[in-house]
Amino acid sequence: MTERQRPARMPADEVRIVFLGGLGEIGRNCAAIEHSGRILVLDCGVMFPDPEMPGVDLVLPDFSYLRENAERIDGVILTHGHEDHTGGLGFLLREADAPVFGSALTLALARSRVDDAGLSGRARLVTVTDGERRAIGAFDVEFIPVTHSVPHGFATAFHTPQGVILHSGDFKLDLTPVDDRRTDLARIGALADGEGIRLLLADSTNVEEPGHTRSERSVGETLRLIFAENPGRRIVVACFASHIHRIQQLADAAVRNGRKIALLGRSMLRNVGIARELGLLTIPEASIIDVEKIDDHAPGGVCVLSTGSQGEPMSALTLLAAGENRHFSIRDGDVVVLSSHAIPGNEWAVAKVMDGLARRGAKVVHSGVAHVHESGHAKQGELATLQAVARPQCFIPVHGEYRHLLRHAQLAIEMGVDEHQVLLCEDGDTVRLSDDGIDFDGEVPAGYCYVDGVVGDIGTGVLRDRRVLAEEGVVVVVLAVDSHSGDILTGPEIITRGWIYAPEAEELLEDARAAVVKAVGEAVGAGSFDADTLRRATRRALGRLVSDRTKRRPMIVPVVMEA
Ligand SMILES: [Zn+2]
Ligand SMILES: [Zn+2]
Repeated sequence: MTERQRPARMPADEVRIVFLGGLGEIGRNCAAIEHSGRILVLDCGVMFPDPEMPGVDLVLPDFSYLRENAERIDGVILTHGHEDHTGGLGFLLREADAPVFGSALTLALARSRVDDAGLSGRARLVTVTDGERRAIGAFDVEFIPVTHSVPHGFATAFHTPQGVILHSGDFKLDLTPVDDRRTDLARIGALADGEGIRLLLADSTNVEEPGHTRSERSVGETLRLIFAENPGRRIVVACFASHIHRIQQLADAAVRNGRKIALLGRSMLRNVGIARELGLLTIPEASIIDVEKIDDHAPGGVCVLSTGSQGEPMSALTLLAAGENRHFSIRDGDVVVLSSHAIPGNEWAVAKVMDGLARRGAKVVHSGVAHVHESGHAKQGELATLQAVARPQCFIPVHGEYRHLLRHAQLAIEMGVDEHQVLLCEDGDTVRLSDDGIDFDGEVPAGYCYVDGVVGDIGTGVLRDRRVLAEEGVVVVVLAVDSHSGDILTGPEIITRGWIYAPEAEELLEDARAAVVKAVGEAVGAGSFDADTLRRATRRALGRLVSDRTKRRPMIVPVVMEA
């Protein structure tokens, strides 16, 4: 591996962008924009762990670059309220005390991150509104409305010494959004016609999907149909708790059919509360009931809105599928709608939940059989439209796995961007925008930081150990030796977990003990009996025997005590 280059100091009129996450993976979106020696952070998200990361709760961007330059940070912008853009905020604010800018909803959704970090009193959260243009330290930033699967997201235009840099945020082009707040293509076009857009950074999540996303309203039509077709049955719908427009359409359908609405799951209760308070969600007070009161109503008179559409282990829907929810249970004839699409990596968990629900007698409706979900991310046609309207001089695809970024770069070139002005960047890359054009400009650390419990970054070593323990088990060998003669005083005692069923392996364990005794004897015979040497000899001998006899590679932990 080549040594990472540190970015050099730049002349005042150059602009630099540092990518800290979200390029080469879905999640933990984070970037920094810099000029005149100042830094503006754009999003600060988390990624959810994959099955290769046992015990990890969250994956964060590596904040070491921001930590080292904390005094140069003028602010943090949150484009929208999703966890993959806001979930790391509490961790970042511990490193850097900077004001945070976002829409009222985004900040309300992110607030729990600030509270978790114990910064409730100190954090400066600044609400910005649609179309607002404001100075943030050295930066001149404009907030442009976009539609997405959480309301009140922004694209951001940075008016810099090198021209306008437009960041799309997560967006789609919904011409009939539930709140009539469309992606402001007109403003983007005006920027393109005016000073021109020097650099575009755009969401690549759905670039492999041809055509256009359908309007969120089209999902509402399907949901209304499901309510109409199932009178007299209880209806349970699971969706993302931040998808306020989906929740609005569900609530409307329920109310129209004379059903009361019960909310299930902590984030559902919290987010519905936040959105109603901000006037972004309208549900008549009389239509909301406590989930514990659900059996006071006829099956056709209730609807449950639940979290857990991704099959998350302790979520409301997963507990329902396992018959372990405290408040109520699924029974024959219930209709359960998963108004969602499994995020890659969650398919197995979601399938298991759907199976559990079906086993309890529920009729399960999901996006594979009905149009009960639509993506919040622009597909090819919409991404091409953005290119056509923005007509950027330079382009960098963001938010996506490597193949998404690659495909998006090709799309930009097809749409007329000069191929020398398209950069394919990954996490850790730094680019410089100057009068000479755009180019790479060194790297910064951008590895995964694994969070488990309250401990930030448990490191790759711990993770590697956990994988070995999970897949192969552990063999511990304990012995005490005389520090003068090297004689074995006690042991070797062998303790195993997850390697072999011990009662049936007496002979194997006996051979293992013998191998250790022999290895220690040889080392002592060669004149070295310090604990380190004996530990190494023990591990080597035991490792070889275990591998030869069982074709497995458990973790081997030699414990050599000197007496
Ligand atoms: Zn999003
Ligand atoms: Zn996102």
